[in-house]
Amino acid sequence: MKRIAFFDTKPYDRIWFDEYNDGRYELVYFEGKLNHHSAKVTADFDGVCAFVNDEVDAKTIDILEKNNVGILAMRSAGFSNVDLKAAKDRIKVVRVPAYSPYAVAEHAMGLLLTVNRKLARAVSRTRDFNFSINGLMGVDLYGKTVGVIGTGIIGRVFINICRGFGMKVIAYDPYPVKDSEIEYVDLDTLFEKSDVISLHCPLTESSYHILNEQAFAKMKKNVFIINTSRGSLIDTAALLDALNSERVRGAALDVYEEETDLFFEDMSGTLIKDDTLTLLISNPNVVLTSHQAFLTEEALQAIARKTLDNFDDYFNGKPLENEVAYKK
Ligand code: NAD
Repeated sequence: MKRIAFFDTKPYDRIWFDEYNDGRYELVYFEGKLNHHSAKVTADFDGVCAFVNDEVDAKTIDILEKNNVGILAMRSAGFSNVDLKAAKDRIKVVRVPAYSPYAVAEHAMGLLLTVNRKLARAVSRTRDFNFSINGLMGVDLYGKTVGVIGTGIIGRVFINICRGFGMKVIAYDPYPVKDSEIEYVDLDTLFEKSDVISLHCPLTESSYHILNEQAFAKMKKNVFIINTSRGSLIDTAALLDALNSERVRGAALDVYEEETDLFFEDMSGTLIKDDTLTLLISNPNVVLTSHQAFLTEEALQAIARKTLDNFDDYFNGKPLENEVAYKK
């Protein structure tokens, strides 16, 4: 029986993998992340399954290749943590391109409502029997303009949710959806016109720090920033400056540039030595969740099914419909 090593696993990951596996593979779950140290345990495995904060760099890939691991299955849509150039012609890399776009898009709207209406603070006040509503004022979303960066599967679901709120939608994407009813604009126009900006594009060389100092300078005063995509789409220092100068009214983030060693773990007893993160968390106009936008039952079921199908295709010599490969 083929053996598959799962890295960075939590109890919620295992539920549907165990159920859908149905004896096909021997699944071994490791809690630790995949990196060039932990990769050494893969000597007796045929495949590896990794997640968004595993470090699948060239050194890790060297070890996987040495151990004859033929396939790396990402149980995520994003794969910016995999060195595809190093993996080329040495190990197949597959992913789950779409599982539940609703999970992520609904979380993005949840974040927008939370940061706008200050829901986290409101709930913590009433828990403390503090019924004052001073300082909790938000704005109507109805009639506001939302600028969506990236109109792929998730971006389009988010657009529909925003339309349901009566918001005007504009969007930027280098590959616009043809014949859609989406109003595309260039990035500068999106910055100038949006009351809310939500990121739904992948992290690539061209999108790294797409929201930087220059971008914030072009934005409307009092804009809300939502990021459920990847942390490095935003220059966090520039965001903090924009929050301090009140150009940005609020930021709601599910991802953070330096999340790799922190997110998904209980760090409550640990001194966090990341001053930028500390500043973000203590800013009253920032809401941060720990990369949980995908975390719905439906999404996890679809991820388990599709990942096991990806392994089936590879081990049965079928074409890999969800392969991601290095392109120049
Ligand atoms: P997708 O591939 O369907 O769509 C991405 C869109 O971004 C495409 O239309 C593409 O043309 C566009 N794009 C590429 N480069 C761009 C750029 N520089 N500027 C603007 N647009 C650009 O992907 P998706 O399924 O909609 O997912 C979007 C992102 O959401 C993923 O890349 C991933 O980073 C993130 N994500 C996060 C979570 C989470 O739990 N927080 C879960 C799933 C996905």
